[in-house]
Amino acid sequence: KAPITVRDLAEGLGKKPNELIGLLMTMNIFAAINQVLDVELVEKICERHGVVFVRERREKGRDRDRGGQPGQENRIPLSVRPHRKVGRPPVVVFMGHVDHGKTSLQDYIRHSHVTSGEAGGITQHIGASVATVGDQTITFLDTPGHEAFTAMRARGANATDIAVLVVAADDGVMPQTVEAINHAKAANLPIVVAMNKMDLPAANPDKVLLGLQQHGITPRDWGGETEVLPVSAHTGVGINELLEQILLEAEMLELNADPDAPFEGLVIEAQMETGMGPTAHVLVRNGTLKLNDAVICGQCYGRVRALIDSQGRRVQKASPSMPVKVMGLSSVPNAGDKILACANEREARVLAEEAMQAARQGNLSVERMVTLDDMFSLL
Ligand code: GDP
Ligand code: MG
Repeated sequence: KAPITVRDLAEGLGKKPNELIGLLMTMNIFAAINQVLDVELVEKICERHGVVFVRERREKGRDRDRGGQPGQENRIPLSVRPHRKVGRPPVVVFMGHVDHGKTSLQDYIRHSHVTSGEAGGITQHIGASVATVGDQTITFLDTPGHEAFTAMRARGANATDIAVLVVAADDGVMPQTVEAINHAKAANLPIVVAMNKMDLPAANPDKVLLGLQQHGITPRDWGGETEVLPVSAHTGVGINELLEQILLEAEMLELNADPDAPFEGLVIEAQMETGMGPTAHVLVRNGTLKLNDAVICGQCYGRVRALIDSQGRRVQKASPSMPVKVMGLSSVPNAGDKILACANEREARVLAEEAMQAARQGNLSVERMVTLDDMFSLL
């Protein structure tokens, strides 16, 4: 029997090996790319991803198309149902030094490119907004701040595809700009630079370009890879170009998802809301979240009782890259928690209880560590 490695399984699932390694880590399995996986585990993972696990006979050698001797078993013992790869909108995060204009730029975009549901309707705050550019959309995570971003990444939750680095043209590259560059690089995110406040007389583009160059970001005008777009959140200059550049970057990334795959999402924020119970702002990463779906989300579970989109409308379902507010969870999850579809509510509850138990054990050891630290500080 041909062994199935992490690489084989990733290929079969249409995932990058690193993604699968990350997924395995959430199951407490630490596997390298060439590691052979237990067949039962492979079956389980395939099931989760809605694909059929079939051992397949492959002709060996390079003349497998014609005349090759069939029957000799080769690698890739997986056959899966065809994946429906559909392009999905990019998910973008604004980062940069304080007061360089992250909020102002997003507010400007919200006013110019985000239409509210009904005439005069109020845009619902759901942790992210969806901007419309022509017939395309861009999902913006509402300023998660560096800390939230780092916390999410530490938990293996990479919600974003592209970083917009905001640098004020009158101030240039500052400490938090450098921090943002490092975060984006660590997360392997392509960077688009929004050189903001170009309306100010003190704007000094060359200083910005030099600062970027000194921190490993070579602007396109200087022969590098990174697009630096002059913008102003006050006049709106360059904002269309910025959005178009984001869509260009997204096109190069060939972002796609499978709307038919089992739903996988990420909690951006969550809270207890009066009259609504626990609500979670969720970003759909893959598959489609539907009303009445049973879900597990960290230590919570539930059945989706209502879905509300970024325009405050009740919707039946949410597709990849869509942010949506979810109601029906048993308690309030944490930002960065994964949310997954389950076969039914019972399965979801069992999984949530297991997660709770694991967390309790984990917390216990943290408590113990704290106590030891306290003791040392007394010595
Ligand atoms: P954040 O901390 O990065 O979110 O920055 P804010 O969006 O809160 O902006 C900080 C300050 O800069 C506010 O007083 C804004 O009005 C101002 N500001 C933001 N963008 C621009 C711009 O394009 N031009 C000018 N002149 N001021 C801006
Ligand atoms: Mg702000």
